[in-house]
Amino acid sequence: MASVRAFSAPSAKDALSAASIERREVGPADVEIEIQYCGVCHSDLHTARNEWEVWPTVYPCVPGHEIVGRVSKTGNGVRAFKEGDLAAVGCMVDSCGECPNCKESLEQFCDVGSTVFTYNSPDPHGTAPVTYGGYSEKIVVDERFVLRVPENLDPASAAPLLCAGITLYSPLRHWEAGAGKKVGIVGLGGLGHMGVKFSHALGAETVLFTRSASKAEDGKRLGADGVVLSKNEDEMQAHARSFDLIVSTVAASHNLDPYISLLKRDGTLVLVGAPEHPHPAPTVFNMLLGRRSLAGSLIGGIAETQEMLDFCAERGIASDIELIPVQKINEAYSRMLDGDVKYRFVLDMKSLKQEG
Ligand code: NAP
Ligand code: ZN
Repeated sequence: MASVRAFSAPSAKDALSAASIERREVGPADVEIEIQYCGVCHSDLHTARNEWEVWPTVYPCVPGHEIVGRVSKTGNGVRAFKEGDLAAVGCMVDSCGECPNCKESLEQFCDVGSTVFTYNSPDPHGTAPVTYGGYSEKIVVDERFVLRVPENLDPASAAPLLCAGITLYSPLRHWEAGAGKKVGIVGLGGLGHMGVKFSHALGAETVLFTRSASKAEDGKRLGADGVVLSKNEDEMQAHARSFDLIVSTVAASHNLDPYISLLKRDGTLVLVGAPEHPHPAPTVFNMLLGRRSLAGSLIGGIAETQEMLDFCAERGIASDIELIPVQKINEAYSRMLDGDVKYRFVLDMKSLKQEG
């Protein structure tokens, strides 16, 4: 095992601070990555603060699942990667590989519950009680869960694609966003801004819903055909019964009815935001009238994540980022809660070298 520098949360109440963690020796199928950049997802904050009752946090907690870096070592059985390659790791580092969902490369839905998430999942290698994520110098991952980053993507602004990107790309593809479809994206944060970019790139008429009037102009710059202030009932009503698909990225509990009312017949509201407290149950008749659907979606499989990275490289799509040193992570969490980020913080992991 090797000790590497990291930033971790010692408890739900403490700020994140410098720490040392162990990484396993590189096994025959493993790739070691020297991490250059790690995006800051709202899920990192939910987990660091133990906000998800269904998934309690084990401390210390090292978040981070938008990881880009250079391959620094490979196991002798690894064929797809070599030292120096630009590589990435997203939200998962392992799964059973045998069940029908894993065989379809939907590893996030592993039927036997063996998806190993990048942090706060029981560590099957026993290196630590749970997996530790990308707020660290290095990570060792089975090559099946390592992604290739096309060299024409800027590595820092590619990092958020590994969670924010795939989490929006996957439902937009699954529910067939494209020409002739009207798609709504709720919330202009890390996930939402990728949703606006992808929906536009796929050719759908794209409408952004935001609480923040100050984000309207950016919404259009990012590709929205229209922007609706969600607090303004008249603006909302102007879109009644018109959407094929709405994807909500909102990180807090909120009333779903105003959005369900905007779906046309057979339209779908997809939840990807994962708030601490549940949303109030939607009004049943609002769903019956119009045969509307309410659905959820979780990140995306490894094959689809690679497809998304290649699509981004081809179409020149990446995240709008604010690059910060890891020492600013606690401030970044506060600003994320205030909606004060355009539109994803990315940690420059060079800054970790200043720590002990
Ligand atoms: P984020 O950058 O903080 O963005 C969330 C956006 O939601 C905010 O920018 C804001 O947009 C809106 N919002 C926040 N609080 C709100 C409130 N009280 N009422 C209405 N709107 C509110 O977070 P993120 O990283 O994009 O993540 C969003 C959520 O998705 C989190 O809960 C995260 O855990 C979850 N997530 C889910 C998956 C998945 O696979 N399903 C993957 C990653 C993350 P406006 O200011 O524009 O309104
Ligand atoms: Zn995430």
